Amino acid sequence: MSVWVIAEQRDGYLQKVALELLGKGRELSEKLGVKLTAVLVGYEVEKLANTLIKHGADEVIVLENILLKNYTTDGYTNAIEKIAIERKPEIILIGATNIGRDLGPRLAARLKTGLTADCTGLDIDENTKNLLMTRPAFGGNLMATIECPNHRPQMATVRPGVFPLPCPDDRREGRIEKIDVKIKEEEIRTVVEKIVKSLDEKIDITEAKVIVSGGRGIGNKEGFEMLKELAHLLGGVVGASRAAVDAGWIGKDHQVGQTGKTVRPKLYIACGISGAIQHLAGMQESEYIIAINKDENAPIMSIADLGIVGDVYKVLPELINEIKAYKD
Ligand code: FAD
Repeated sequence: MSVWVIAEQRDGYLQKVALELLGKGRELSEKLGVKLTAVLVGYEVEKLANTLIKHGADEVIVLENILLKNYTTDGYTNAIEKIAIERKPEIILIGATNIGRDLGPRLAARLKTGLTADCTGLDIDENTKNLLMTRPAFGGNLMATIECPNHRPQMATVRPGVFPLPCPDDRREGRIEKIDVKIKEEEIRTVVEKIVKSLDEKIDITEAKVIVSGGRGIGNKEGFEMLKELAHLLGGVVGASRAAVDAGWIGKDHQVGQTGKTVRPKLYIACGISGAIQHLAGMQESEYIIAINKDENAPIMSIADLGIVGDVYKVLPELINEIKAYKD
C-alpha cells in the first residue's frame, strides 16, 4: 500500500505543486501507516528524484522513455496506468495544472475509479481510513467533503498554492526505481511538433511573495498602473478580482480566486475588492492581508490583518510616496 504523488516536471524542472503535494502526501501516508511514493514521468528526469526524496517521498518511481519527453495524454496515461494496476496505490494525488487536469480524469477512467478535482483540503477519516477530499461546491457557497469508499485508488487533483511547501530535509534517503517504459509510437495519437512559448510577459502570481490586487473599485485599466508601481516597489506582482479581469482591465493570468489562482504570499494588498467568498477562497491563506476599501463593512475587512478605510486614489499615491521616500 502506498500514497502516490504524480510529480509533474516540464523541461526537466519540477513544478512547485509536486513538492506541495509531497508535504500533504507525507501527512496522509503517516496517518495510514504506508509509504509515500513520487511518480516521475519523462525522459532523462532521474536527476530530479533526490529533490522529491528530500521533500518527503520514501521512494521514487521514474518512468522513462524518449516518447515521454513531452507530455501527451496517451503517453503519460498508458505509462502510469500499467504501473498503477500492478502496484495498486491507495491514493493518487495530482497537481491541478493544465497537464494534471488533463491527465487526472483520463487516468481515473482507465483505473475505473473516481476523482475529486480542485481539492482545497485532504485528510484521512479515522474510522474508515478513507481519503476525505474537500472542495468548494455550488459556486463556492459551501465546502463539500467527498469520499470514494468503494473504489481504489482514491484520486484527487489539487491546485498549486493550496498546500504549503514542505521544508527539504537533506538527510532524508529513499529508494529510486527506474523503469524503462515500453511504449510504442502508435499508442500516442497526438504528435508534439514543436512547443512555442508565448512572448507575452507571463507572470506566475502563485510564486509571488507580495501581491497587490485590484478589484472593481479601481474603476479603470489606467488605475492598474498605480498597482503595478506599488507592486514593483515591493518586489511583488499584480493580482486582480474576477470583476477587474472581466472588465478587461488586466489579463486572466492575474485572477485570484476560485476560478483564478490560489495564492499564499507573505503580503496581500487588496485594493477596491469587496471580498466575495469566491475571491477569499484564493487568498485567505496569505500571511498578512491589507485591505484598502471605501466601505468599512466590506467582507474583506473581516479577514484583513489591517484594514484601511479610504479611497484607493487617495491612499495608494500616499503609500507609494512614503515607500519611495523610505527607499531613497
Ligand atoms: P465588487 O464586489 O463590486 O467590490 C468592489 C469594492 O470596491 C467594494 O467593496 C467597494 O466598496 C470598493 N470600492 C469602490 N470604489 C472604491 C475606491 N475608489 N476606493 C476604495 N474602495 C472602493 N471573483 C474573484 O475575484 N475570483 C474568482 O476566482 C471568482 N470566481 C467566481 C466563480 C463563480 C462560480 C462565481 C459565481 C463568482 C466568482 N467570482 C470570482 C466573482 C465574485 O463573486 C465577485 O463578483 C467578485 O469577486 C467581485 O469583485 P470585486 O470585489 O472587485 O468587485
